[in-house]
Amino acid sequence: MKILKIQTLRGPNYWSIRRHKSIVMRLDLEDLADKPSDRIPGFYEGLLETLPSLVEHFCSPGCRGGFLSRVREGTMMGHIVEHVALELQELARMPVGFGRTRETGTPGIYNVVFEYTDERAGRYAARAAVRLCQSIVDTGKYPPSELEQDLSDLRDLRDESALGPSTDTLLQEAEARDIPWSESAARSMIHLGYGVNQKRIQATLSDFSSILAVELACDKEGTKRVLENASIPVPRGTVIHYLDELEGAIEEVGGYPIVIKPLDGNHGRGITIDINSWKDAQNAYDVASVESKTKSTIVERYYRGQDHRVLVVNGKVVAVAERVPAHVVGDGNSTISELIEQTNRDPRRGEGHDNILTRLRIDRISIGRLERQGYTVDSILGEGEICYLRATANLSTGGISVDRTDDIHPENIWLAQRAARTIGLDIAGIDVVTTDISRPLKETDGVIVEVNAAPGFRMHTHPSQGKARNVAGPVMDMLFPAESNGRIPIVAITGTNGKTTTTRLVAHIFRQTEKTIGYTTTDGTYIGDYLAEAGDNTGPQSAKLILQDPTVEVAVLETARGGILRSGLAFAECDVGVVLNVAADHLGLGDINTIEQMAHVKAVVAETVSSDGVAVLNADDPLVADMAERVRGKIAYFSMNPNNERVKEHILAGGLAAIYEEGYLSLVTRDSTLRIAKAQDVPLTLKGMAPFMIANALAASLAAYAGGVSLEHIQEALSTFKASSEQTPGRMNLFDLGDYHALVDYAHNAASYKALGDFVRNWPGERVGIIGGPGDRRDEDFIELGRLAADIFDRILVKEDDDTRGRPRGDAADLISKGIGQIDTSCRYESILDERKAIETGLDEAVKGSLVVILPESVNRAINIIKKREPIGDRG
Ligand code: ATP
Ligand code: ATP
Ligand code: MG
Ligand code: MG
Repeated sequence: MKILKIQTLRGPNYWSIRRHKSIVMRLDLEDLADKPSDRIPGFYEGLLETLPSLVEHFCSPGCRGGFLSRVREGTMMGHIVEHVALELQELARMPVGFGRTRETGTPGIYNVVFEYTDERAGRYAARAAVRLCQSIVDTGKYPPSELEQDLSDLRDLRDESALGPSTDTLLQEAEARDIPWSESAARSMIHLGYGVNQKRIQATLSDFSSILAVELACDKEGTKRVLENASIPVPRGTVIHYLDELEGAIEEVGGYPIVIKPLDGNHGRGITIDINSWKDAQNAYDVASVESKTKSTIVERYYRGQDHRVLVVNGKVVAVAERVPAHVVGDGNSTISELIEQTNRDPRRGEGHDNILTRLRIDRISIGRLERQGYTVDSILGEGEICYLRATANLSTGGISVDRTDDIHPENIWLAQRAARTIGLDIAGIDVVTTDISRPLKETDGVIVEVNAAPGFRMHTHPSQGKARNVAGPVMDMLFPAESNGRIPIVAITGTNGKTTTTRLVAHIFRQTEKTIGYTTTDGTYIGDYLAEAGDNTGPQSAKLILQDPTVEVAVLETARGGILRSGLAFAECDVGVVLNVAADHLGLGDINTIEQMAHVKAVVAETVSSDGVAVLNADDPLVADMAERVRGKIAYFSMNPNNERVKEHILAGGLAAIYEEGYLSLVTRDSTLRIAKAQDVPLTLKGMAPFMIANALAASLAAYAGGVSLEHIQEALSTFKASSEQTPGRMNLFDLGDYHALVDYAHNAASYKALGDFVRNWPGERVGIIGGPGDRRDEDFIELGRLAADIFDRILVKEDDDTRGRPRGDAADLISKGIGQIDTSCRYESILDERKAIETGLDEAVKGSLVVILPESVNRAINIIKKREPIGDRG
């Protein structure tokens, strides 16, 4: 077996619309190509021994053990690799389920598709699965140590990429509210929503977390003073910088017991509480000043009571947790270290913040804490006896939390809310020490010891005891009020031909609404009036750029085959999905060999139309019209034929359509016909002479109308949009050169040649074609181009691209000439391979009244050559 390619899908794709995260591995089975598993001696047994848990895979039999029975009876290795890749991830605690394996057009080469949760782990699983299966084929087994290594690597990859627990909670809530999210290029920053409606979060900091507030919260001393001035109870304390200030400071706060902590610490590091002697105070001072970057330490009065975290979101207390320091409870015969071990067996306990709780540790601090209570790790605790391993209650040092949201006294709610507002934080974790949170702080001598920016959520969402609180809900309510989901309208456009033209026109129509439009095309990514990035930008990365751009109000996305196959769409749903046509182009690339398969690729756009969105489909193209069956939202058809049966039925059933009728582009429903414009008055259609441009204009108008744009705006846009070489270079740019005209167009496949032919044949004078095509097409495609061209032109100059994409020079031209020769016409033709020379020759020799049609490799070069000849007002 040999892996030929591994691709990572990250959005709706050819294989699945709902499962966005899949690996596609192109696998050459080599000598296993004609060997199903039952014909490989010992394979079934070896696989079962290596991965007994495969018994859980149902596969097509639909029952436990189903997959293994397929292996025993004989299935192809690609299919087995798929299941192994899934199982390896499962065993590394990454739940996955979806998989699919299909032979490609090349016998023995398979596409193995399977789900992942972490993409690096997914790619690793692909390679490991092949390794494992190959080893069983060759030796009958896979060494257990290898498997252990694979699983441990997979677990590491999972852990490295995991987002924190608070972020997870927020994203789950976002998903429940249909708010899309994506990771930012900056680590751990998340975009929620799209374009102008997006908000960002980083853990529990949000776009609304003011930098002043965060800075203030991080300055413990400043915070205390600000709160104190607002008559909010805080510990009595002072800051010192030298040991010789310590004695005075202790006196100043009213004597023992005291607390000493670093001025700029967190996670409880460097803190000693409940200090009752000069010796302990000196030690505590050393510990604290080491932890402080500024060598400043706080000396405070010690307040008795439990630690509470009051979470305030957007001005309201949303949860209260009592936090209990790391501890163990005795059973009458276990030692403390045994009790720690037992406690750590709780599956909820992990390392750091990666799980609901954190493991208990035996370290210098816990040993010190035990000593103060008169214990060592070997002491045996009596039954029910509690022994603390930490003085402070941070979850990250093994503490637990108890929900107390329903117990907090209203006056304490009021105080906490005022404290958050006083500091200015949108999301604040207020640390309160009091003996009883259900009584006002002033009665219990309780204090607010600290206000935390970016407070952790897990103590509220996963309390060790008591009710779990959905604290992410209020955060989303704040970021996205009034149940908004942070989306902007997305119009996605696909098809074989006319995507760029239609995308530009849709963008131009939406622009009439004075919104900022972000759009991507084959020539670049545009935001508003400017080009953000030149290039062939029709894949998910460019779409992501638009969707993450904070100024964009409407996204219009040319969505090409290449990106869909390579990594899927960048969005899970669109509001309007347009499919213009499906024709034979790019066949044989990316394992798409038939036009039906190509239709399946393009249908991805139609299938991602949201349930309240609209799919705009070409009713004249059966492959496109048939996509209607799989659309969740509404359908709107466009058609050049007013008598199209499907459209008639659709309208009768109450649907919307755009039709070319009696020379007009019209929007038709059962009750009305709104004429948008006369085709002759739409410059894009070249006085109505280019039928395919009328079709594109119908599609664009329909898409905009479905997207809520008014008829007036559509009309205004159609009358001002021109296929000029400036606005749409390479798309039907017509130049008047006095005695004759020149047309520059991008047509490069059979369907677009035919479409172009429909226009060219309307030309009254001589018709000259300067033609060629990209070298990566199949031989038969070139011949077909020649045959089509012979039917369109009176004279043809055959040229080639500078970049022949691997073909010998002259090869493509010969094939095209061969095609021309097959057609019985009076058409004259010759080859001039150099494109520049061919164009110059064609123009030099143009006769009066003729049309010279140039289908160039480089549109800019062709246009420059023409411009040197000074066309009369570039109307094109
Ligand atoms: P974290 O990162 O958990 O916020 P930190 O390093 O910022 O910790 P503080 O919040 O100031 O430190 O203190 C940690 C804990 O120590 C408090 O939650 C409280 O339990 C205890 N503590 C701090 N100061 C006092 C005090 N003056 N009286 C009583 N307990 C205190
Ligand atoms: P690409 O796949 O190269 O990005 P595209 O789908 O974006 O192409 P356009 O750039 O809009 O298509 O148009 C390319 C050429 O295809 C046009 O210049 C024209 O010759 C032809 N064409 C445009 N619209 C249609 C259509 N609706 N039907 C057939 N051919 C068309
Ligand atoms: Mg704190
Ligand atoms: Mg394009």
